[in-house]
Amino acid sequence: MRDYKLVVLGAGGVGKSCLTVQFVQGIYIDTYDPTIEDSYSKEIEVDGRACNLEILDTAGVAQFTAMRELYIKNGQGFLLVYSVTDKKSLEELLAIREQIIRIKGTSNIPIVLIGNKCDLADERELEPEEGIAVSKQWNKVPFYETSAMYKMNVDDAFIDVVRQILRKEVEQ
Ligand code: GDP
Ligand code: MG
Repeated sequence: MRDYKLVVLGAGGVGKSCLTVQFVQGIYIDTYDPTIEDSYSKEIEVDGRACNLEILDTAGVAQFTAMRELYIKNGQGFLLVYSVTDKKSLEELLAIREQIIRIKGTSNIPIVLIGNKCDLADERELEPEEGIAVSKQWNKVPFYETSAMYKMNVDDAFIDVVRQILRKEVEQ
């Protein structure tokens, strides 16, 4: 079985940890601590291939550190998460994507764009169209609106990025 390294990135409070735990453990745990950075592993089968995912749930305390450089360098797939209730959190992803491209030296990188907390209709600051517009700017990376709370589109988003890694392996 092969190992694949995924990295979950985005502003504090957008739901990175809730999404990761929902995907890995199938439960919604709300113990918000923006400073906890942890890694998880999960075995799944994608298109008939057994994969061992190592998922790093980052905490964006210091954005431009050597640590961050290192895990971006090692990461094979990236989940870039904003919250549909926080306009600024989408803007913050632009710099994060630039950083990934700079470190990787290419823009051909497995990425999904995630607009989380889509269940919070009353607090919405961003419509799906705004996520779609960013995904188009980014070479049409797949875009998902998710709810970690209600497990909407969570598995789909993680599996999508794995599928992109697998496809890239075939190309090489
Ligand atoms: P992180 O800093 O990106 O890891 O954010 P967390 O995963 O810790 O989530 C921050 C807060 O947002 C928590 O208090 C969660 O309750 C809330 N949250 C996360 N995901 C969702 C979601 O899909 N829907 C709703 N309503 N709240 C969420
Ligand atoms: Mg967190």
